[in-house]
Amino acid sequence: MKFDLAIVGAGVLGSFAALRALHSGKKVLLLEAGERARGATVRNFGQIIPSGMAPGTWRGLGLRSLEIYRSLEPKMDGALWQQGSLYIASSPEEATLLEEMQDINRDTGVESELLTPAQCLARIPALQPGYCCGGLFYPREMSAESGLLMPRLWQLLAADPNLTLKPATAVAGVEESGDGATVTTAVGERFSCRQVLVCCGHLLNRLFPQHLQIDTVQISKLQMLRTEPLKPVKIPGNLLTGLSIRRYDAFKSCPSYRSLPDSGLDPRYGELGIHMLFRQSADGSLIVGDSHEYFSAQGVDSLDYEIRQDINDLMLAEAQRILALPQWKITRAWNGFYSQENQRGVLLKSISPAVHLATGIGGKGMSTGPALMERAVDSLLAGRPLEECLEQIQ
Ligand SMILES: Cc1cc2nc3c(=O)[nH]c(=O)nc-3n(C[C@H](O)[C@H](O)[C@H](O)COP(=O)(O)OP(=O)(O)OC[C@H]3O[C@@H](n4cnc5c(N)ncnc54)[C@H](O)[C@@H]3O)c2cc1C
Repeated sequence: MKFDLAIVGAGVLGSFAALRALHSGKKVLLLEAGERARGATVRNFGQIIPSGMAPGTWRGLGLRSLEIYRSLEPKMDGALWQQGSLYIASSPEEATLLEEMQDINRDTGVESELLTPAQCLARIPALQPGYCCGGLFYPREMSAESGLLMPRLWQLLAADPNLTLKPATAVAGVEESGDGATVTTAVGERFSCRQVLVCCGHLLNRLFPQHLQIDTVQISKLQMLRTEPLKPVKIPGNLLTGLSIRRYDAFKSCPSYRSLPDSGLDPRYGELGIHMLFRQSADGSLIVGDSHEYFSAQGVDSLDYEIRQDINDLMLAEAQRILALPQWKITRAWNGFYSQENQRGVLLKSISPAVHLATGIGGKGMSTGPALMERAVDSLLAGRPLEECLEQIQ
C-alpha cells in the first residue's frame, strides 16, 4: 500500500500534521516509538497561550491554534477547556508592562482585560496579597490535560479510515525510493509513501542527525512538580507570574521592557531559567514549574537525566511567595526536554522532494504547533519545500 504521507513521531506536531493531511483526504501513516506519546507533548503544562508569543507571526499561529483546539474541544471529553490565562505582576514595573501589553492588544484586536490586585484576588483567592500588583487576563485562552488530550486525539485520528496508526513502532530508517520514500521500522517492516515528515521532538540523533544536530539547535531540559490534590483551592485556567512576564517574548515588545529593573531575586533564578507557572488539574492537584537548562544539539547523546533538588527548592520558594496553599506536598516530579531552533523559532526543512523535517519549536509547541503544522502540511502536499512555508509565515 502506498501512503500519501508517513509521519514519524506522534507528539503535538506529528499528530496535528496527521489531522491536517486527513482533512485533505490523504492516506496517512502515523508512526510513534512509544505505546503512547511520551515526549514534551505529554510532560508540559498544557497552557495554550498565544499571549506569551511576540505579536506577529507566532502570536498569529497561536491564535489560529486556539481556533483549531476550540473546534476539537467537544470531542476531547474534558481534556481541553477554556478558562483563560492570567498574568500576575509582582512589581509596579511589571504592572506597567501589563498596561502596555493591553494597549498592544487593543491595537491588534486581541481580547484581554487589566485586573486590579483586588480583582486578581477575587479570581484566585490563594494568591499572596503581598505578591500581586495587578493582572492581565486573556479570557479566550485554553488549557489542556496533555496526557489525556493525546490519546483522545489519536482515537479521533484513528477513526478515519485513511489513517494507519502504529504506536510502539520506532522508525529506524527513511530512504528515497522512486517517486517517494520508504520508511523502515526497527523490526524491519517497510512502508512506501509519497512523502515523509519527521517530527522527532528532541530525539535528534536517530534519523538525519546531520541535519538536526546543528549549531542553531539546542535542547532544553525542564523540571516540573505536581502537588497533591488541593480540592478547596481553585485556580482556574493558566496562571503566569512576574518571572514569566520577564521571560516571554510577548512583553519584549512593550516600550518599558528595556528599562525593567532587576527582579531582585537570587541570580540562580535567571541562570537556571526559572519562571513560575501554575495549572490545576481536575483532581485539584497543581502543576508547578519550570526551569530551563540548555544543552547543544549534540548533547542529546549524553543528556543529563537527573532531577536537581536545588532547582526544585528554588521553584518551591518562589511558588510559596506567590500562592498561599494549605500545604505544599509534592507528589510527582519529572523532567521534560524539547529542541529549539534559535534563529527562526522552528526547524522546518525539506531535505529532498519527499523527505521533510519538523522540530525545534521550543517551548511554544502546544500553543502554536497545530496551526504551524496546518501550514507545513499544506506546503508539502502542494510540492513546496517546508522552508517556504516558514518564509511565508515570517
Ligand atoms: C516541561 C514542559 C512544559 C511545557 N509547557 C508548555 C506549555 O504549557 N505550552 C506550550 O505551548 N508548550 C509547552 N511546552 C513545549 C511543548 O510541549 C513542545 O514544544 C511540544 O510538545 C513539542 O512537540 P513535538 O511533537 O515536536 O515533540 P514531542 O512531543 O517530543 O514528540 C516527538 C515524538 O516523536 C517520537 N519519535 C522520535 N523519534 C522517533 C522515531 N525514530 N520513530 C518513531 N517515533 C519517534 C517520540 O517518541 C515522541 O513521542 C513545554 C515543554 C516541556 C518539556
